[in-house]
Amino acid sequence: MKKPRHILGISGGKDSAALAIYLNDRYPQIDFQYYFCDTGKELDETYELITSIESYLGKSIKKLDNPEINSTGDDPFDFYFKSFRGYLPSPQARWCTALMKLKPFEKFVNGDSAISYVGIRGDEDREGYISRENNIQSIFPFRKNIWSNDVLLKFFDPKNQPKVSEYFNQYFSGENLDRVLSYLKEPISFDRNHKAETEKTLKHKVNSSLNVGIPEFNRTVFDFLKTTDYPLASEIDYALLDNEDVLVRDDIFKILRESGVGVPAYYEKVEFEVDGQKGEYARSRSGCYFCFFQQKIEWIWLYEQHPEMFKKAMTYENEDELFTWVPNESLKELVQPQRIKQIKLGHIQRSNKEKSKSSPYLLDILEGTERDGCNTCFL
Ligand code: SF4
Repeated sequence: MKKPRHILGISGGKDSAALAIYLNDRYPQIDFQYYFCDTGKELDETYELITSIESYLGKSIKKLDNPEINSTGDDPFDFYFKSFRGYLPSPQARWCTALMKLKPFEKFVNGDSAISYVGIRGDEDREGYISRENNIQSIFPFRKNIWSNDVLLKFFDPKNQPKVSEYFNQYFSGENLDRVLSYLKEPISFDRNHKAETEKTLKHKVNSSLNVGIPEFNRTVFDFLKTTDYPLASEIDYALLDNEDVLVRDDIFKILRESGVGVPAYYEKVEFEVDGQKGEYARSRSGCYFCFFQQKIEWIWLYEQHPEMFKKAMTYENEDELFTWVPNESLKELVQPQRIKQIKLGHIQRSNKEKSKSSPYLLDILEGTERDGCNTCFL
């Protein structure tokens, strides 16, 4: 069986950047291949970050582009935008991610067996993009649970219980063995109509087992994988099995600062004042400067901090405002003085409320719940 490639996508965001540094420093024995999908519409800070990471790693990050598109003189976004006749992408019609991120990624993998490293942090409760291709396996090094749900669902499938029990017997003993076997035996439904219930049970089984022993659980999963056609099945051993690190947001900033790569400037908070009230804004994500996932306050940030880019974003909205980046509101309307004031005041109010009850981080407030929208672009 051919050995898998170890690949890591740099989105331009802080988490994938930190992951590249972390894996490079901690696992020099693994030959990581780095790539970046360029839409042609990234912020300058993203391109600067890519250069800094390359110089830190001493390796180049492969820019995935399409020579056929390049020959037209357009960048990827403009090429597809024209072919869609001015139809803007949106959360409901994400042709941008499909064509400019996932398609080049799958072409880059080219059917090879590959381990894809994903920078979802230990303080995030989400799964991230999992390729539907059997030849690509996702690994999450920042989390206590490094495995993807598709692997774990197979592992905890009742029909695999006898086999998994044997592996548990090799790595656990005494009370610990009794505990992991009891989690293994807890019923789990695979009924597609009860997906949420399945995920909840799976999470309980995984977290409870990991609490008994992380390397032991990982070795059990690894042994199980050897009976499958997952890419890791062809590895004799795997260095990440013994990794007990759980990295959260502060660790990410620390890695970026201490490595000298630095934090992309768009994450830095900028103060503003409106009606005598002080507030702060920043950009919470990498990706295209006009990304439709950004919040209205981030559009105001773009308007005030990168006015040329904001103007360019306006040119994509057609004259009759049939297609707008923000639902039911054109960018021209969004930056009317009264509207800016309203958005800023709303943001100050929301930030104060959030700070008092949950996270003190502006990024948490800005990322909101929409962040899940584009794991491929923002990690
Ligand atoms: S950053 Fe936003 S606009 Fe750009 S490809 Fe990703 S989802 Fe689409």
